[in-house]
Amino acid sequence: MKSNAKAESAKKLRRHIASLKACRLCSGMCSTPVSGGAILSRILLVGQAPGGKEPQLGRPFAWTAGKTLFGWFENSCGLNEENFRKKIYMAAACRCFPGKKPSGGDRVPSRKEIDNCSRWLQGEFEILQPALVIPVGKSAIELFIEYRGMSELVGRSWSCQYAGHKFEAIPLPHPSGASPWPKMEPGKALLRKALGKIAKHPAMRALKTN
Ligand code: SF4
Repeated sequence: MKSNAKAESAKKLRRHIASLKACRLCSGMCSTPVSGGAILSRILLVGQAPGGKEPQLGRPFAWTAGKTLFGWFENSCGLNEENFRKKIYMAAACRCFPGKKPSGGDRVPSRKEIDNCSRWLQGEFEILQPALVIPVGKSAIELFIEYRGMSELVGRSWSCQYAGHKFEAIPLPHPSGASPWPKMEPGKALLRKALGKIAKHPAMRALKTN
């Protein structure tokens, strides 16, 4: 990207995040929006929704699921948490904490809340035009790919289109520990395969030279 275009995109992204942080559209949400900041990147990580700790700590994947997720990237791509946060834009299907289910665990955002929040994701696709999208967990994956079970989706790269923009998506399971899928076969092997594909992707390799 030429330097003028880069400066313009950085300005748009900062404005976008200021508007995102002011969003109060969903009355059922239990926090204000969480953002990873204005990171100009061709790689977009899309999570599901923040947990209860992230709004207090002010960044996505700030608690136990984040430790697992950043461990995956450190081991496969040589990118530690600090560098990941500096180099990769972090988005989500919903940006606010949905609250707890009466039975325990975090509430899954409703279809309406995900639809409401898609305006932010669409804006990010327009500004960043990502080459690689990493959707993490079912609610994020099904924004881009018809969901048919983790074993059918993880370990492969998918040609996708969203908000009029074409890109490659490499899905990952959610690292929360709520599902044993990433810790058992075939999940373990498919997770390794997916991380290997992410490490070899040209957009990820380009991070090392930037
Ligand atoms: S979930 Fe998204 S659309 Fe809903 S209030 Fe939060 S930022 Fe706004």
